[in-house]
Amino acid sequence: MSSNVLQDFLKLNLNELKEKGLYNEIDPLESSNGPVIKINGKELINLSSNNYLGLATDERLKQAMVEAIKEYGVGAGAVRTINGTFKLHLELEDKIAKFKHTEAAIAYQSGFNCNMAAISAVMDKNDAILSDELNHASIIDGCRLSKAKIIRVNHSDMLDLRNKAKEAKESGLYNKIMVITDGVFSMDGDIAKLPEIVEIAEEFDLITYVDDAHGSGVLGKGAGTVKHFQLSDKVDFQIGTLSKAIGVVGGYVAGKKDLIDWLKVRSRPFLFSTALTPADIAASIKSIEILSDSTELQEKLWENSEYLKKGLTKLGFDIGKSETPITPCIIGDELQTQQFSKRLYEEGVYAKSIVFPTVPKGTGRVRNMPTAGHSKEMLDQTLAVYEKVGKEMNLI
Ligand SMILES: *Cc1c(COP(=O)(O)O)cnc(C)c1O
Repeated sequence: MSSNVLQDFLKLNLNELKEKGLYNEIDPLESSNGPVIKINGKELINLSSNNYLGLATDERLKQAMVEAIKEYGVGAGAVRTINGTFKLHLELEDKIAKFKHTEAAIAYQSGFNCNMAAISAVMDKNDAILSDELNHASIIDGCRLSKAKIIRVNHSDMLDLRNKAKEAKESGLYNKIMVITDGVFSMDGDIAKLPEIVEIAEEFDLITYVDDAHGSGVLGKGAGTVKHFQLSDKVDFQIGTLSKAIGVVGGYVAGKKDLIDWLKVRSRPFLFSTALTPADIAASIKSIEILSDSTELQEKLWENSEYLKKGLTKLGFDIGKSETPITPCIIGDELQTQQFSKRLYEEGVYAKSIVFPTVPKGTGRVRNMPTAGHSKEMLDQTLAVYEKVGKEMNLI
């Protein structure tokens, strides 16, 4: 018999979401997640993926995956610490460390898992974490899991960070204090002020932790936000994902050898969840090789981003303060934002609306993620659709 308490809970809450227009209907893809996707039999220009460099559909990665499957099979068969570690895993971790300019690296099953793993392996209830208010959900959950005191810092507000770091340090209440931030913030596309953060960390003895899921493969000639600011030896934890620009799935922590050795014996997703598959690993290795050998894809990504941003601005849209390819188009009102996104869809452009509570009330936006895989024609067509829908809705 199923629980009435559960039934009542679900019905009430699902209805409430649906009434408020906050229930997210998921559109399944009928194609690869390339620059053009197919949904419900309809072809759409895709501006919603994190496949920044187009590597998710790259022939070289596909080939690497197929070969790995032929040689090693489809599953890793165990957790890393029993016998799920293949030589391939070590090769990938070596490649990541070189790519990130760190002594060592450890791979996990996802970026989300990295934050579940790494924070609580080091921080505990006698510690404090200074966390930017716009940090990713997985950082927030990872901090909670550690039981450390979480001190929220106003977004990219260096004065607030410094005051709170000083207060935490001088209180004498904590054994260790960490400062934790996204490298690139995914809703606005702004970059963390790492030089100032590192300076404050040095002044107050803070452990530094940067989750660069949206910066890796995009900034610093691909190596990420930390490299972009030339701070590779000043940041203790560099987190990245293998599922965005790298194009596959998985995540990693890069840092000093002692840190990585510690994570291999103390981080729970490494110890208690099955390793990444050989195919994922092989494709990720190929991807990092491609990124290490050439910046061609990054250049294309940035060129396309500039083109789209210029075009949208010229049409009169507000694209916020993004410093990266992430291109929000800020509409404001929540319902109008959803309507705008729906009209884009009908006209053949797939760009999702993002509204409260994901972003502050009244700053509803359609977020565009241009990639290296888009052609000029696709971007021109996107701009034409934006112009048509924008005029129709009296937004420009
Ligand atoms: C996307 C993202 C993650 C999650 O990465 P996955 O590999 O998709 O699990 C973690 N942190 C940040 C900052 C992200 O943007």
